[in-house]
Amino acid sequence: MDFNPTPDERLVADAVRTALEAHRADHDRWREMVHRHKTFPPELWTAMCDAGALGCVVPEENGGNGLGLVAGALAMEEMAALGFGNALMVLGTMAATAILHHGSDSVKARWLPRIASGEQKFCFAITEADAGSNAFRMTSLARRDGDGWRLKGTKVFITGADVADQMLVVARTTSRQDVEAQGLPRTFGLALFIVNTRAPGLGLSLIPTHGIEGMNQFEVHFDDVFVPGEDLVGEPDMGGVALFTSLNPERICAAALANGMARYALDKAVKYANERRVFRNAPIGSYQGVSHPLARVRVWLEASQLLTLRAAWAFDRKLDPRTVGSYANMAKYEASRMVMEAVDRSIQTHGGYGFSEEYGVIWLFETARLLQTAPINNELILSFIAEHDLGLPRSY
Ligand SMILES: Cc1cc2nc3c(=O)[nH]c(=O)nc-3n(C[C@H](O)[C@H](O)[C@H](O)COP(=O)(O)OP(=O)(O)OC[C@H]3O[C@@H](n4cnc5c(N)ncnc54)[C@H](O)[C@@H]3O)c2cc1C
Repeated sequence: MDFNPTPDERLVADAVRTALEAHRADHDRWREMVHRHKTFPPELWTAMCDAGALGCVVPEENGGNGLGLVAGALAMEEMAALGFGNALMVLGTMAATAILHHGSDSVKARWLPRIASGEQKFCFAITEADAGSNAFRMTSLARRDGDGWRLKGTKVFITGADVADQMLVVARTTSRQDVEAQGLPRTFGLALFIVNTRAPGLGLSLIPTHGIEGMNQFEVHFDDVFVPGEDLVGEPDMGGVALFTSLNPERICAAALANGMARYALDKAVKYANERRVFRNAPIGSYQGVSHPLARVRVWLEASQLLTLRAAWAFDRKLDPRTVGSYANMAKYEASRMVMEAVDRSIQTHGGYGFSEEYGVIWLFETARLLQTAPINNELILSFIAEHDLGLPRSY
């Protein structure tokens, strides 16, 4: 058993590090933009895309580098380890996998090269106010209109809807009432659409929200938005499967971001603990009260990275989606708890300076905490594992 990623799988992560190191002089300004102004520096996006971060899950014949999700996850971890995790990278990877596995040849040809290059940014819209974690309660409906569709409904908490070019929207092509009346499976009746974020009838209202660096969340209103038939991903009514297979890469990427963020927080803590002296002229890192919690985070981080790589590896090897789902859920669960501890211990190590903007640790707190709630809450993950891995009765 070889636990090391191959040199190819490390290529993009190494390129990300080189690209971001080359911009060292810009990091403080970028952090200011990301944290204080909730904007993501365009040159940072370009540097990450040029390094190939969005091309990993896209095969070479579709304009990507085809190195796989292990490579993509390592690249995302590296960005976050340098202090610049990015949610649109996660969402772009997710959109690319949905299109790759379920889109027609023409949908693939039109979108995959543009996602891989970073030319087209994708956000993702599934959450509705009255559905929440239970996507099957969604009511947004797409009706046929000539050779296209008319989309009506409202989504909430949509990250980056203002900066994305396209939105991968999950909507119904058969209403829930009709699905129930006909006794069809609850996964029936959903579809995935690629919707231009500037389409007539699409409106955004800002939801002041914390938790995602460099990005805002929006309520998105679809008022009979026209979607060309060619921008349907997969078949009408059959989007449930496409949706749930693309949620796996989202969870794996979220875990990778958490791992990188934990490395960033831990690096800062170790640096500070080696420098700060308050008693006996010894660095505070010499106190076991400081060093042991950091060492525990180091162990937990290693375990979380292994779980994340295992999930990405299972995805790349095309193991059945249930198995990938188990690993993806476990990785996201563990990484989200580990990063919270990493950030908490980093803040504690920094003492009062842990709360100062100068040291930049407190800014990580909200994102670390968010990861236990989104993209999926940890209670639902435990329910999935209890049901699918342990064979316990479904709890909801
Ligand atoms: C900053 C941010 C960014 C987001 N970005 C996006 C985005 O880009 N696109 C998008 O579509 N959505 C996005 N979301 C929405 C996010 O995915 C949801 O908030 C999340 O999935 C939880 O749904 P909910 O808020 O409706 O919680 P609810 O479903 O109302 O659940 C509330 C709480 O109840 C508990 N709970 C729920 N169900 C169960 C159960 N079966 N068993 C045990 N406990 C349960 C959990 O503790 C959960 O946290 C974002 C949210 C935030 C805060």
